[in-house]
Formats: sequence, C-alpha cells, structure tokens
Amino acid sequence: MADIIQLLPDHVANQIAAGEVVQRPASVVKELLENAIDAKADSIKLIIKNAGKSLIQVIDNGIGMSQTDARLSFERHATSKIQSANDLFNLQTKGFRGEALASIAAIAQVELKTKQENQDLGVLIKIEGSELITQEIVSTTKGTSIAVKNLFYNIPARRNFLKSDTVETRHIIDEFQRVALAHPDIAFSLIHNDNEIYHLKNENLRQRIVGIFGKKIDDKLVPISETTDLVSIKGFVTNPKYAKKKRGEQFFFANNRFIKSNYLNHAVLNAYDGLLAPKYFPSYFIYMEVDPSTIDINIHPTKTEVKFENESAIYSFIRATVKHSLGQYNIAPALDFNRDENLDIPYNYANSTKKETPSITVNPNFNPFKTEGTSSKSTFTPTKQTQNWEALYTEIEPKTIEDIPVIIESNFEQTSLFTETEIQKANKTYQLQGKYIISSLKNSMLVVKQNLAHQRIIYEELLEKFAKTKNLSQILLIPIEIEFAKHDVAILFENKSELEEIGFQFQEFTSKGIIIKAIPTLIKQTEVLSILEEIIDNSKLEIPKESPSQLNYFCKVIAKNTAIKTGQLLNNKEQERIIDKLFSCKEPNYAPNGKEIFIHLPLEEIEKKFH
Ligand code: ADP
Ligand code: MG
Repeated sequence: MADIIQLLPDHVANQIAAGEVVQRPASVVKELLENAIDAKADSIKLIIKNAGKSLIQVIDNGIGMSQTDARLSFERHATSKIQSANDLFNLQTKGFRGEALASIAAIAQVELKTKQENQDLGVLIKIEGSELITQEIVSTTKGTSIAVKNLFYNIPARRNFLKSDTVETRHIIDEFQRVALAHPDIAFSLIHNDNEIYHLKNENLRQRIVGIFGKKIDDKLVPISETTDLVSIKGFVTNPKYAKKKRGEQFFFANNRFIKSNYLNHAVLNAYDGLLAPKYFPSYFIYMEVDPSTIDINIHPTKTEVKFENESAIYSFIRATVKHSLGQYNIAPALDFNRDENLDIPYNYANSTKKETPSITVNPNFNPFKTEGTSSKSTFTPTKQTQNWEALYTEIEPKTIEDIPVIIESNFEQTSLFTETEIQKANKTYQLQGKYIISSLKNSMLVVKQNLAHQRIIYEELLEKFAKTKNLSQILLIPIEIEFAKHDVAILFENKSELEEIGFQFQEFTSKGIIIKAIPTLIKQTEVLSILEEIIDNSKLEIPKESPSQLNYFCKVIAKNTAIKTGQLLNNKEQERIIDKLFSCKEPNYAPNGKEIFIHLPLEEIEKKFH
C-alpha cells in the first residue's frame, strides 16, 4: 500500500494551532496586551471596532522590534522570551510559547508597525492568512502597533460561532480589566467604536480598582497584606456588608498574571464564613507573589490556570490573611489569628449555664373555647420570659398588605386546573417557613411558593397595564443620580430605548453613572437600583433575553425584583390574597422564569402515603 502520511503545510498547522490560542476576539486582546507589557511599555492603547470582529489594535511605547525580529515574530515557536525548557521555571514574562502572533496571523489580516528606540526608521509588515503581503521601511514612533483585522475571515465557520457584539465586547472588557488590574503602574486606554471606555493613568492599586469599577467601590475595600517565605499577598477584599448576590468582581493574580482558581476562591469564601448571607458573594482583588520556580503556568494554552507547588499552604495562608484583615478592620469583631476559641461562642450562650432554665407558666384555667372578654382571659398573665419572646417576633413583623404592590383584577381567562368553586373554597391558608403558602382545595392540597406566585401576579399585571396605558412614566420631583462603573453605564446605554419604552426617562449618561428623571409608574423609587443592577448583571452573565419581546423581559425583571421575598412572613389576609390573585392569572402554573409555582397533592396521593 502507498504511504499516506504527509506533513501539514505551515499555514494549515498554524490555523489548527490558532484554535487553541484564539477562541474569540478577547483572546487576541489578551495576547497583544501581554506582548506590549513584555515589551516594557508604560502606556498601552487598545482600539476595538465592532466588538473586535473588524478591528483589534494595540499600540504600545515599548522596546519595539528590529526588522528581522518583526518578520520572525510571526513564525511558530518564535520567541525572544525563553531559550531552553529550563527557563520555564523562572518566567518573568507573560508570553513564552511563541505561538500567539503566528496563530493570529493565520486567521486574520494583520498589520504590524514597529521601531526600536535607537533606530531612525521602523518597519511595516502586512500578513494575511500566514502569507506575507508586504514588508517595507516606514517612519514611525518608538514602540509597536499591531492591528488585527477581520478575525476568522478565512474560517467562516469560526466567525459564525462568535456571539453578539454585546457578548464579545463584554469578554474584551473582562480581559482588558484583568490586564489593567495586574499592572496599575502602566497607563491603559480602551476605545471602542470611537468611544473612550477607559482612560487609566499610571496609578496605585486602589486607584486602579476605583478607576475601573467606579468610586462606589472605594469605601467597600478592605486592604490585605501578609508575607511568608512561601508567598506574599496583598490587595483588597470587600466588606461583607456590601456582598453581592451575583459573583462579582473576583480576581486572583499570581506574579501579576490573572489566574482562575476555584480552590483558592474557596479559601476566600471560607474566611467570610458566618459573615455572609447565603448566596451572597464578596468581591476581591488578591495579588500573590511566589517564587517563579514553584508555579507552573504551562498547563493551559491561555495560561489562566496554573499549578502551585504548595497549593494547600497557600490556601491556608489566604484564608488566614483575609480573616485577619476582616477582623482587624472591625468588620468581623470575633475573628483574629490567635484568639481564644471560647470567644467565638456567642456571649449569651457561653454564660447560659449560670442561668436558670426559663420556666413556662401554664394557666390551668385557660379555656381556648371561651370567647374573648370572659374572665378566663384576664387570668392569663404572661411571664417575663414569654413577653421577651413576643418582642422577638414583633421585630420581624410582616409587611402589611399595603406594602404589596396593588394588584389589579385581571380579566384573563382562567386556565382551568381547578374549578371556580374549588378556588373560592381555597381560602384557608397557612404559611410554612415564610416560604410556602399551604392551601386546601376540596379534594387536594396546594403548596404554593410565595415568591414565584407573586412574581407571576406582578408580571401579568405589568403586561396588562403596559398594554392599556399610554403614560407609563412618573416624573420624579428630584432626578435620581446613581453611580455606576463606566462599563455598566455602557450596558444601560445599550438598553436605553427599551428602558424608555417601559417608562424610564434619562437625563444623562456620564462616565460615572446615570441621572434618571422618570421611572415606570408601576415601580417604586427604592426598587430602581435593583432592577437596573439585574439588567446589567444579566447582560454580563450573558443571560439571553429569552422572552419574545423586550417588554416581556423587563416585566420579568421588575416582577423578580419587586415580588415579596422568600422568608417574608405574611398574615392570613395576605396569603389568601396571593392565592386568589394567582388563580386569576392567565398562567397560574409557572412563574415568569418558567419554574413551577406550586405542587398539587390530590387526596388519593396523600392517602397512598399512609399505606
Ligand atoms: P511570545 O509572547 O510567547 O514570545 P508571541 O507570538 O506573542 O510569542 O510573540 C513573538 C515575539 O514577538 C515575542 O517573543 C517578542 O519578541 C515579539 N513581540 C511581539 N509583540 C511585541 C511587541 N508589542 N513589542 C515588542 N516585541 C514584540
Ligand atoms: Mg505573546
């Protein structure tokens, strides 16, 4: 049989290799920014057009390249950063694989202009799909400019896989933030479609964090700093008081390289143990310096996952450092390194043995069947202890029915899971754990999740109102000013027309936040922030607006943010009202997010369980 193995031509090999390095425009951004840092630039400019799909350009004022090096830099495994495998264990640079430029040039149209400081003239090279188009001498400034145009122009399948501009821009901003946070001593700017999104001067770490995430974050930052022989740690964590419901800004850097580590993330969360409500997350910016020989960066082509030699020691050290700082700044009074463990026991509990067991006084004459106003009632005098217990409950007094947004009768036809008489009879309710409303029908039992039920009620009410009403805005007496980070303002700006459709009116979008002059009639001023934050978070998390229309999507967001919460105690009237309203909804079975609102247990099934 004839021989069938052949060597792949270089440009094909490069395209295949490119698949590992370049998944999307943001990967190119990362590689180019890192090259500029390795070239010792102290000012780096990133220019993006159409989410990086048309153009990604990085201009630096670094050391530049000679003419020969400029041509060679596009060869595979061409690097100035290591010479032998041993060098891998003493890395001082971001790059070392010598693959990025070769990969990028295989799948895009690239223009490189570069000049070294001591040269009069520089060089311009154009390469498309690994093929050299031109190489000429040009006059240019010191440093390097690389423009990557029409990424994946020669691999349509990959180009089609790219997500929407919003999503791809988000990824680019993420990469930019990671690199900019790792190097506060370098000035960075980011220009997207001719708008300058960031303009970061060379500054200290705290200023850099504030420069990226907005002034709002400044008060929340708690500094951390500890050193051992193994690792030195510095940076900031956030005060647990400001924890977020979404995984927020969480950054680890090892030797100024952004890294991902679930394991070390766990160490930080562990340090917050007992300080955060469930499902709340702190933000953190943690910078580790370790001996380069104790860390392996080479385990993943994008180099965000790394292997530490002493991972478990670093884990303990991070946890202790974060705990210590939270304690030192009086955020967690009971947390410290060398403290007596007994102090962790709540004060009352620690002393409880000295106390007598509270006595319960029972009134033997109390007759629950006697009506009020009879003498038996006046004979029942609660003891001091029971009064105190009552006080405990009054503190968590439920919101009154007035606090629940007015629910307009809906004219929708019912979906008839239950008959009208059945529902009318469903007025005996009971609340379980501040979470579920239990109600009985004629021959069955319903367990209704209160939060989801209320979301459905509000959602339908909003849709109906929007369909009927023309004037959806309430003009505010005093416009509200809300601070947001620049990129969050950009997200809101992208959604401006839809937000206006539902009744928002904006006075201004600035680099520091927004000014709102009118809000939808159906929401309260106090709910504005959480609604806008959710819209921003959804967009960051790439949660698709799966609803058929923008209006539906915003109604869902509003319903989610204004519905009574799980854990909120409701009195009987409120419970009944929710059940009634739910079953006058068009679709009482599912919440706007698609989750089932209740469980229906027919009598037979309950009976079966007793066999
Ligand atoms: P690596 O960074 O892993 O060495 P790259 O393909 O990213 O591989 O770059 C190849 C080489 O090109 C680098 O080693 C460096 O010498 C040179 N180079 C790339 N970008 C720049 C730049 N912005 N300034 C100066 N030299 C650069
Ligand atoms: Mg590189």
